[in-house]
Amino acid sequence: MNKCQVCGAEHDPKEIRCADCGTFYPTLAELLAAEEMYEEQQTFKGFLKRILGAESVKQGVCNEFKLFKAGLSNTALFTLYVIAAFIFALLITVI
Ligand SMILES: [Zn+2]
Repeated sequence: MNKCQVCGAEHDPKEIRCADCGTFYPTLAELLAAEEMYEEQQTFKGFLKRILGAESVKQGVCNEFKLFKAGLSNTALFTLYVIAAFIFALLITVI
């Protein structure tokens, strides 16, 4: 059984609408997309994807640093370490 996100009533996973409050349940695809987005925000894979997806690696690292400075992540220290390692690796390849 799943739970309605609005009123908490339990419902059959096959139903698309809550019988109690009338709220439409998010579809599985929407849930998966949300999950994926959340994961990309939190994981190293997402971090790399954002850096490599930026106009340039430098720009990507800059963006990550801005995100880091916004101080939203509790893995901030790890992120800082990864950025430092990334820049270091970049310098090594350039030299
Ligand atoms: Zn409901």
